[in-house]
Amino acid sequence: MLTILRHIIQEVTSAQSFSDALEIMVKRIANALATQACSIFLLDRHHGEYVLVATQGLNPKAVNKIRVPINKGLIGLVGEREEPINIDDATKHPRFLHVAEAGEEAYRAFLGTPVIYHRQVLGVLIVQQEEPRRYDESEEAFLVTLATQLAAIIAHAEATGALAELMENSKGKRHDLVYSGVPGAPGIGMGTGVVIYPPYDLDSVPDREPDNIEAEIELLDAAFATVREDLRQLSERLYPTLPSEERALFDVYQRILDSADLGKEVADNIRAGNWAQGALRQSIQTHVRRLESLDNEYMRERAVDIKDLGLRVLACLQKNNRITPQYSEKTILIGEALAPTDLAEVPEGCLAGVVSASGSGNSHVAILARAMKVPTVMGVGEAQIHDLQGKEIIVDGYYGQVHVSPGLSLRTEFERLIQEEKKLDAELDEIRDLPAVTKDGQRIGLLVNTGLGADISISLAAGAEGVGLYRTEIPFLMRDRFPSGEEQRIIYRQLLASFAPRPVILRTLDVGGDKPLPYFPIKEDNPFLGWRGIRITLDHPEIFLSQIRAMMRASEGLNNMRVMLPMITDVTEVDEALRLLKKAYAEVRDEGYDIEMPQIGVMIEVPSAVYQARALAKRVDFLSVGSNDLTQYLLAVDRNNPRVANLYDALHPAVLRALIQIVESGHQEGKHISICGELAGDPVAVMLLIAIGFDSLSMNASSVGRIRWVIRHVTKKKSAKLLHEVLSMESAVMIRCHMELALERAGLGNLIRAGR
Ligand code: PEP
Ligand code: MG
Repeated sequence: MLTILRHIIQEVTSAQSFSDALEIMVKRIANALATQACSIFLLDRHHGEYVLVATQGLNPKAVNKIRVPINKGLIGLVGEREEPINIDDATKHPRFLHVAEAGEEAYRAFLGTPVIYHRQVLGVLIVQQEEPRRYDESEEAFLVTLATQLAAIIAHAEATGALAELMENSKGKRHDLVYSGVPGAPGIGMGTGVVIYPPYDLDSVPDREPDNIEAEIELLDAAFATVREDLRQLSERLYPTLPSEERALFDVYQRILDSADLGKEVADNIRAGNWAQGALRQSIQTHVRRLESLDNEYMRERAVDIKDLGLRVLACLQKNNRITPQYSEKTILIGEALAPTDLAEVPEGCLAGVVSASGSGNSHVAILARAMKVPTVMGVGEAQIHDLQGKEIIVDGYYGQVHVSPGLSLRTEFERLIQEEKKLDAELDEIRDLPAVTKDGQRIGLLVNTGLGADISISLAAGAEGVGLYRTEIPFLMRDRFPSGEEQRIIYRQLLASFAPRPVILRTLDVGGDKPLPYFPIKEDNPFLGWRGIRITLDHPEIFLSQIRAMMRASEGLNNMRVMLPMITDVTEVDEALRLLKKAYAEVRDEGYDIEMPQIGVMIEVPSAVYQARALAKRVDFLSVGSNDLTQYLLAVDRNNPRVANLYDALHPAVLRALIQIVESGHQEGKHISICGELAGDPVAVMLLIAIGFDSLSMNASSVGRIRWVIRHVTKKKSAKLLHEVLSMESAVMIRCHMELALERAGLGNLIRAGR
């Protein structure tokens, strides 16, 4: 059975299309189980129906026609129960539903299993047979195993749009193509897709219509010729010294290149409407997929050869024809793994939205997008972002969805929502200069998180009382070398001067984790538990000293600067950092700068710091909670992994209890306690943060207006009552629901759902 299973999976994974894969699956399963019928029903969520999409044994004309309501029939029952149902005579079952077009009158035995992906039912896989009998355990296990494979294929088809296309055919009407990810930055963005991809990376080359088919074919031929010649020269040079195995490799490469097939295939893809680079990607990927799915180890190894060759040809094509992105006036920036710098490269005023295939709402790209007020969807995952180039796109940053080439009605609906958002923003703007004080007189500091020079004006316009977190790594990330001390001084000075006399907290370099510096590579298996933040800068005191000297020089005459240390896990790190800070202060004063020693703070963002908050508070002037990392480390949930994004919630009861402990410890030492993670800008959380006793909240500029609005419409007393209530709850989901309801009841629901 295992061999049959492997063969079916191999065949299905190398199928040319989604519908071919389904066809192959039903035929092979029916064969393997020696049963007369095997069918796949997929769930059409739009209409609440299961659609027959492939069958062996039922009426083939009924494919894409039969639709079973979600709560009807045995199909519906399998979906409801989310477990296999094995019945010897289905016609006697109370949920049996006779569907005239199916042609299943003769079938009695029934075994159906749900197709589930990430806890969601995607469809039902069934087998049937004329004479009544129960399928045995091994047959059931076989079907269940194939259902898990089918789930992955459907999920992939959902991401690539092939599923929507299939459903479209079945209903005979247009379905808008929607990719789902996770919310990255709130808001709705409409514009044209611009796909960014790293050079010399075959998998991320986008599809693009060629301007001139013949010219693309010429480029391709030239690239093939160059690679052929390069390989010839290489092999000639190395031949005498090469062992025979490696020599054989060159021969294999030459043979692949010389075979008319590969070149012809790519040229056919060009003629079918793709440019040379995209056409090359298509062909190479098809070959690689096929080879990798084979049983034979030797053939699997050939996949590596094909990939390598593809890369060589691509390198030639890109050397001759590297396309620099053409940003449109309303650019929706799309990429496999966008970096903060990619956002900064779009001309000012042209960035309408961001879509990233990887990452989650807590990735730094998303944080930056929020600061820039650019609607963003992260982690659309396996979506075929290749073909979004030049397409009309709507980014729904509230729900984490990306609509591709939307129809008129959808566009109109989103335009209406954008208008409503503008109205809300105008209302928030009216209270911009009023203090953040609750109705019963509790004053809370409202500060901004920044990192880009460009967002200074946005932050000032938001009416922030200062900067609660300046991520100094951002200017470091945007260069191809460490910025000099003087370059840093100028950047910090501009920021400090723009906000003076309001306080500005500069955080020392926090690289590592998901913020590697391109010119300071760190290769680690577990970067979030590795060399990051203060660990790097204490190991490289020259980098740390250069930075804090630049900060101190920049503060002369302004005296509004504070310095904060990231990723502190141990008091000795603070002691060492303080020693270096004092040293830098003395040196800069010796240089003749007339400055005061800045206030120093520590970020509380790992569990050990929570338990040592009091000892840490004793040593410094203030504490600031980094709830993004604190949540990741307390819950052991990677903040960047979309697969576990549903487990990542800073309203988890464990996180709330940690926050309470931090604030209590800090206040016992008489120190100021703020929070600068994304939680501070979450309208749903703000009442709890007031009740916990934070002195100030620091957030993205785009959240300041909403948070000020919430604070001014609630009381500390009511917040304390809510905190008391949620502390009796045991899950983040319950707490979030409770707080959302409280916001709705207070008439503040529009702050969390954009006009919906
Ligand atoms: C945090 O971890 O909450 C934080 C503010 O720092 P960053 O997001 O830059 O890691
Ligand atoms: Mg952090």
